[in-house]
Parts: sequence; C-alpha cells; structure tokens
Amino acid sequence: MKRHRITLIPGDGIGPEVMKPTLKLIEAAGVNIEWDSHLAGADALKKHRTTLPKQMMDSFAKNRVALKGPVTTPVGEGFASVNVELRQSFDLYANLRPIKNLPGVKARYENVDLIVVRENTEGLYSGIEHEVVPGVMESLKIITEKASTRIAKFAFDYAVANRRKKIAAVHKANIMKLTDGLFLQCARDMSQKYKRIGFSDLIVDNACLQLVLDPTRLDVLLLENLYGDIVSDLAAGLVGGLGVVPGANLGDTHALFESVHGSAPDIKGKNIANPTAIILAAAMMLDYISEAKAAARLRTALHAVLARGECLTRDLGGSASTSQFADAIRREMEK
Ligand code: ATP
Repeated sequence: MKRHRITLIPGDGIGPEVMKPTLKLIEAAGVNIEWDSHLAGADALKKHRTTLPKQMMDSFAKNRVALKGPVTTPVGEGFASVNVELRQSFDLYANLRPIKNLPGVKARYENVDLIVVRENTEGLYSGIEHEVVPGVMESLKIITEKASTRIAKFAFDYAVANRRKKIAAVHKANIMKLTDGLFLQCARDMSQKYKRIGFSDLIVDNACLQLVLDPTRLDVLLLENLYGDIVSDLAAGLVGGLGVVPGANLGDTHALFESVHGSAPDIKGKNIANPTAIILAAAMMLDYISEAKAAARLRTALHAVLARGECLTRDLGGSASTSQFADAIRREMEK
C-alpha cells in the first residue's frame, strides 16, 4: 500500500473535534497516511508567536497536500488571514466547492448539483487597505488578466473533465466596469475555446436571486474572490447548511482541502458539530492523491448513515453527537 505524507492542520474552534474522528475514518477507508500535524492561527500564536509557523509552511511546501480544519485569525492589526496567506503563498488559485444534495439531508431544494469555482488569490482579498484621511478608508480590488484567465481556464477544464454542461460567470461589471469587466471578458474569451460547454454571465445580485428561486437551473459558477465566498455560504444553505459542504484550494503544485464552514465558536467543545463537511473534504483529498477507492468507501458509508437518518447531528435535525455520528460511519465501513 502506498504511503502518503500529508500536512495536517487540525485548526481551532470545532476543527479538532471534527478532524479527530475524520482521521480515524480515513484510516478505516484503507489508506496509509503519515500525518504531519501543525498548529496555525490563534493557537499557533500562543505557542510559536506567529499565526503561520515556519514548520507548518515548510511541511506543506514539502508535502504539497494538506487537510485543514477551520482556523481563526486573531482580530487586530498585523495579523494577515491565515487562510488568505496560505492560498496566496502557495498560489492555490482555485477554490472548488461542490454544492450537492446529500441523501437523507433535508434541504430547501432537491436535485441541486452546483460547482462553485472561486478565484482565490486577488480581488478584495488582496489585503491592500489604507486610511486616505481620518474617517475615510480605502480597500483596493485588484483584478488581473492573468489570474482571471487562469481561473476561467480552470473552470472550463473542470467542466470538461467532469462532464458539466455550462458555466455562468458571476460579476458586477455593470458597476465595476474595469475590474469585473476584465474578469468577465477573460471568462468570455476562454469560453470561445470550449465550444461544447455553454457559457452565460449573471450579475451577482441576480445570481443570488436565481439560486434562491431555483438552484437546479445552474451548473458551474465562476466567481471572483468575494462573490465566491458569499455565494458559497448562500448555496450551502440550499443543501443543508455549512455542516455539509467541503472545499478544495488548488494550485498547479499544491492542494489544500477544508470545509467551507468556519470555526463555529458558538458550538465549540460541545461535541455536536457535524463532521460531514470535513469528511467530504477528506474524500476530495483522497481522490486527488489517487486513492479513489478509499474516497468512495468513505462517501458510501457517510451517505448510508445520512440516508438512514437514525443518527444525525443537530444541524440536520437529529440529536447525535459528533462522535456518535462518526462511529456510525465507522460501523458502516466495517460492514
Ligand atoms: P468564517 O468567517 O470563519 O468563515 P462563518 O462566519 O462562516 O466563519 P461559521 O463558523 O462557519 O461562521 O459558523 C456559522 C454558523 O454555522 C454557526 O452558527 C455555526 O454553529 C454553524 N456551523 C458551522 N459549521 C458547522 C458544523 N460543522 N456543524 C454544525 N454547525 C455548524
């Protein structure tokens, strides 16, 4: 059995509670992984005096694959967002978030099968903010042709490889004519090279309306950074909430897998968080490292437990704890 070495960032808040059982499930799925575990964010600051310890960055640089729980960046000056730093340092330019109904998970809509492709490195997340004069702040939205073309190509290549039919570029180019205009133009230019994939564009407010009215009409959504962040949470709400949506941050050389949800401090330490999102992120990671059988085993067991509906966490209307839910998946895998 091939041995993989993967960087692990358990994260904080509910991160460690959902990560611990997930690691056991990954092992039970039959993969041989040596985890190289590191702190990041607020916990790392206490121990290493930095939110992004060098050991963690070196580990990910070397291993090239990471599984990460949610990480809180301390509020205050001088702390760059850990998530943003990781994405920018390793050029993880594509954030891929599959938003799909899960068996047994009550949701507002059925047959939702959306792919959110979010540009991960620029836009308003460039972190270039300053005070113009007291009382007036400015934040720069950087959009480049290079990054917009690269993410558009990623979306079209993904659509081809995964038999998706159409892509909608989401923007506000009617107002931000230069920045969003460039993003849209790059997407449009790219669409010319992929004649078999349908292409349309949607103004972001209309995209939100369409998603809430009937998300089944949409397929792959291509968005710049901030719209991607907001629309992902909205879309998660259509299929059962943040507890069930995974994400991958992909670059040309490195890949980091995580849940869409944050550290959920309101439910931290209560053993009630839903580990589904991180389990599904782990399954995406297993596919990425060519362990498709183990990924399928993990997903099949998860789906079976969800579909039976006897052992669900509170966010899904049940009363099971995180560990009871994970144990049920484990038993399912052992069957
Ligand atoms: P961030 O700004 O860090 O992305 P957020 O604002 O998206 O975080 P979350 O921490 O994701 O916020 O939490 C939003 C809500 O969803 C909270 O009420 C939280 O309890 C709930 N939630 C998030 N993740 C889960 C989970 N895995 N299981 C159950 N509830 C969750």
